[in-house]
Amino acid sequence: MTDRFAKSLSVAAFVVVAASSSAVAQENVLNLYSSRHYQTDEQLYSNFTKQTGIKINRIEAEDNPLLERLRNEGKNSPADVILMVDAARLWRAQIDGLFQPVKSKVLDTRIPANLRGKDDGNGSEWYGFSTRGRVIVYNKASVNPEDVSTYESLADSKNKGKVCTRSGSHPYMLSMIGSMIERNGEAATEKWAQGVVNNFARPPRGGDTDQIKGVASGECGVAVTNTYYYVRLLRSNKPEDKELISKVGFIWPNQKTSGTHLNISGGGVAKNAPHRDAAVKFLEYLASDEAQGYFANGNNEWPVVKSAVAANPALESLGKFKAENVSIATIGKNQIAAQKILDRVGYK
Ligand code: FE
Repeated sequence: MTDRFAKSLSVAAFVVVAASSSAVAQENVLNLYSSRHYQTDEQLYSNFTKQTGIKINRIEAEDNPLLERLRNEGKNSPADVILMVDAARLWRAQIDGLFQPVKSKVLDTRIPANLRGKDDGNGSEWYGFSTRGRVIVYNKASVNPEDVSTYESLADSKNKGKVCTRSGSHPYMLSMIGSMIERNGEAATEKWAQGVVNNFARPPRGGDTDQIKGVASGECGVAVTNTYYYVRLLRSNKPEDKELISKVGFIWPNQKTSGTHLNISGGGVAKNAPHRDAAVKFLEYLASDEAQGYFANGNNEWPVVKSAVAANPALESLGKFKAENVSIATIGKNQIAAQKILDRVGYK
């Protein structure tokens, strides 16, 4: 036997072993890349494994590092499912072609068409699994709710020294500003951003929960937050959280005008998913009534599937509201213009 032949034989043997082990993996493993950052998702994942026997390997990171990792891994990426929060991020992953098309009757019938995205060019397709609102919170002792009832009002000079937000460059802010560009135009939005900077109580820092805490302490008069951060504190049994939230008022913004900015979390099958069947199964599981219930009860988000029941009294206590009607694709596209505006006015 020549050396070369021996080598090709051992390569062949390796290929066979690799093929059979990947066939086993096909059944039992799912590599999940997620930028969701909510501890309560644990149950969401463990229940899928209980139901299907498919083990989930989780790679969790912030949106940008996660997207960068996927781009760098390219064709060799082990990612099967990618979950992202916020339309801006999903749109980015879509145009970068990080997802692949999915054919699923379950997903097509259960996920509303306006909460899905598909790129006409590269076929990259994703599904929304939960929604959240971006709302205004204010200090009950120092702020009149009528002065802060709209996003636009945050730039009003009467709110000077009162406004707190997380970094303007965070996707939650970029999406909110992106939708403002859509309804008010770029020039008015730039004027608005300048007004907010002039009204800052402190330079942007921390996450949404830190803004709510700032409002409770009185350092901030008014702030914006995603609904689930507020509801999380509202549901907390800790005495310090009860004390904190008692000082904070809640507003559905823009009820007389454009409606409250809505956003989504969602995901899709990764472009080069090694375990494609398991990936589709997982997305279908996320659209089940049970998983939809976890979104509502675990992280206080709204289910997207009509038949799913939220059964979350704290979330329901916020009442009904008018939501804005801007397409997710538009919000995604406008994030670039939004970032440029923020840079020009020094909104860090
Ligand atoms: Fe969040």
